[in-house]
Amino acid sequence: MAAPDSVGDAVKRRKVKCGKTGKTRYRDHIAAKLGLANIQTYGDTRGKTPQRVYYCHDCGGWHLTSRPSSGSR
Ligand SMILES: [Zn+2]
Repeated sequence: MAAPDSVGDAVKRRKVKCGKTGKTRYRDHIAAKLGLANIQTYGDTRGKTPQRVYYCHDCGGWHLTSRPSSGSR
């Protein structure tokens, strides 16, 4: 029995980097939130734990940042 094609598609999805920041680019805020939750659960090899996601106008994608929100509300 072969696995459905949709499973393979999810696994072979490659990471895309932002040309401006060099960070991993997520295609939408949901994907970014999932990435954030994954890192907060399992940890990041670089030691910095991202706190939130933000939209990047340079690549039109979403990134994670360890900086808290500016608090300028
Ligand atoms: Zn970007």
